Amino acid sequence: MNYLSMCCKKLPVTNVVMSKPSIGGEYEGYRKYLINTKEGNLWGVCSECNKSGSFFDEKEKFIMDVKYIDILKEMMSRDDNFDENGELTQEAKDYIEKRRNE
Ligand SMILES: [Zn+2]
Repeated sequence: MNYLSMCCKKLPVTNVVMSKPSIGGEYEGYRKYLINTKEGNLWGVCSECNKSGSFFDEKEKFIMDVKYIDILKEMMSRDDNFDENGELTQEAKDYIEKRRNE
């Protein structure tokens, strides 16, 4: 499993920070070079720009994007989701946001 930085979408620098689960041994792969902040984010150092910041699980991001595409397809199938300029209506945008946060 890969974790990528929010800034450059790159792997974390190794051996700067180390984290271990409270039970058991070390995390697998690059997860052990990231620590959990109290806000619930994964934090580490980006191997591209060398700045510290949040990281995300590549797989989770992918699942979220696939879900977004499904929602968009659903929107496209209904004409009343678009205004006279072919833009998504505010109501449609609100609906997308709601669905994405489910
Ligand atoms: Zn970076």
